[in-house]
Amino acid sequence: MCGIIGYIGPRTAVPFLLEGLRRMEYRGYDSAGVAVNEGNELVLVKRKGPVEITAAAVIDKELKGTCGIAHTRWATHGKPNQRNAHPHADCSGQIAVVHNGMLANYKAIKEDLERRGHRFRSDTDTEVISHLVEQFRSDGDSLVTAVQKTALLIRESAFAFAVIDSTAPDEIVAARLGSDLFIGLANGGLFVASDTRAFRAHTDKYVYVKDGHVAVIRRDASHQVLTFENEEVLHAVEDLWYELGEIEKGKHPTFMHKEIHEQGEVIRRVLEGRFTEQYAIHIGGIARRPEFQHYITTQLRRVLILGCGTSKFAGLAIARYFEEFGYPSEVIDAAEFATSYRHVTPETLVVPISQSGTTADVLEAMERLLKDSAVTFSLVNVPGSTLSLYGNGVYTRAGLETAVASTKAYTAQILSGCLLTLAIARSAGRVTALDVQEFGEAARRLTEAAEAILKRGPSYEALGSSLAKISRMVFLGRGYTLAAAHEGALKMLEVAYISALEKSAAEMKHGPLALVDKRTVVIAMCLPDPKVPLTYDRTIDNVGQILSRGGRVIAIAEEGDERIAELEYSGTRLERIIRVPATIGPFSAITAVLPLQLLAHGAAAALGRNIDQPRHLAKSVTVK
Ligand code: GLU
Repeated sequence: MCGIIGYIGPRTAVPFLLEGLRRMEYRGYDSAGVAVNEGNELVLVKRKGPVEITAAAVIDKELKGTCGIAHTRWATHGKPNQRNAHPHADCSGQIAVVHNGMLANYKAIKEDLERRGHRFRSDTDTEVISHLVEQFRSDGDSLVTAVQKTALLIRESAFAFAVIDSTAPDEIVAARLGSDLFIGLANGGLFVASDTRAFRAHTDKYVYVKDGHVAVIRRDASHQVLTFENEEVLHAVEDLWYELGEIEKGKHPTFMHKEIHEQGEVIRRVLEGRFTEQYAIHIGGIARRPEFQHYITTQLRRVLILGCGTSKFAGLAIARYFEEFGYPSEVIDAAEFATSYRHVTPETLVVPISQSGTTADVLEAMERLLKDSAVTFSLVNVPGSTLSLYGNGVYTRAGLETAVASTKAYTAQILSGCLLTLAIARSAGRVTALDVQEFGEAARRLTEAAEAILKRGPSYEALGSSLAKISRMVFLGRGYTLAAAHEGALKMLEVAYISALEKSAAEMKHGPLALVDKRTVVIAMCLPDPKVPLTYDRTIDNVGQILSRGGRVIAIAEEGDERIAELEYSGTRLERIIRVPATIGPFSAITAVLPLQLLAHGAAAALGRNIDQPRHLAKSVTVK
């Protein structure tokens, strides 16, 4: 979950390394560090806390070296303190390592190395890499061979790591297994990084390093990709798919704010080119795969959606939409699935969802599924990410998401999941051209609806800031809006740290009603599902049960809904009604969530939180 960057070339390395760290800080931020080769001697500078603390210490040292590596950490082994911050050196201080991931068998390796006289200075798993490379180097191996042999010894683990050695000053060697690694090819030097954002300001040319491969970048501007077994790998140099502007905040106070406000555009992009003239849905991952089309018509009976966090919540709405067309569907947390007894047979289509495409729990679940020969179709946001390379799938087209708290990815996932559902149901003859046409119209109206809601952003943020002193919140939904209840509560606790519970409105009477008092605010999503009118009626009854007990309720309701404005129980009325445009059932999971994202942002801003980097969290959860 951390960020790795390395630079070698004709220029001073430090500015490139610090810029890379700042761009990757969203991936992990409990400590950071830099190692630079200064005239054949490595200088390491690391500090606990945000990148800027390390940056200040590094700038003080006035390092001039032209080869270096750097890291921003999200601790898995050992406290987030200066001693455990990366880079980690070997005994001699001649080798330095930065690492992303976790090493499964590090204890046994560490004991062995200690027996051979190696002295460890940190509590991390990572440090074994430095000493392994040192051991192989002292046996006479080149830096590349030492890295290859080290990678083979830890191949039960997930990692991307980069190494420099003051006695091999003209190269940086990096290895990858299960954690992203890229080479960046710029005119003014070469980069290795765990995230292309780290070098995007200097080049759009990159190489995707695959699992089981080692990347070597050299001072003479050459680079090489080899397997752990030292075979040369032919590889493509590709162009990055995003512009530099996408990784900058622009006029927005935070990345989260920027990403919330991009959602109208995201909806437009997700829909682009999806509707054919014959009122079918075009998804490349289906159109290009006749065997998958055959599977849809002959074998597919049910659907299992896997995801974590926001992706799982988007899955709740998608599962319900599959059910509209007669596919029994369920959502399981990918982490639970990976350790469950569940055996999936081919009649179940598994739909893994991940924004980053590198979520470790999802990838682990995928490995189990592939062993079971399960049929999968992934929804992934980041092009070229690990999950996108497994089997069938569709890109969700949300664009780069930088804020740790996901927003636009959720909207893109639900919409893409609905398109997938319709494409499948249409192939199976379960929906007509008219159904697709109606969906298409609703989807286009959704773009306008989202933009109208976002235009009222400042008033939702103001409402959020007025709630900042509240001790807890309860988010209620039913049917499709249950997904929004989960997601709204997650946003509130992630960025504002306000304790937030999510429930089906129906469930309140089975216990959570006991929380209702003046210090609790309930946000109730009272949006209709036109196909199941009871959803709305029952939600209103449930809201009534809270009002009757003097509870504080803010409702999200459709424009033109008069009934909600008149609600009054025992003299208590709704505290506020947030109006959103009418839409079809599945899209209410989107229209309901937009004000909630802004509410959370407003509350977090009023509380002075670090909105883009909430405490203890990180984007791209690459640990299990
Ligand atoms: N496992 C390593 C550590 O705890 C790396 C964690 C990371 O990916 O930041 O230091």
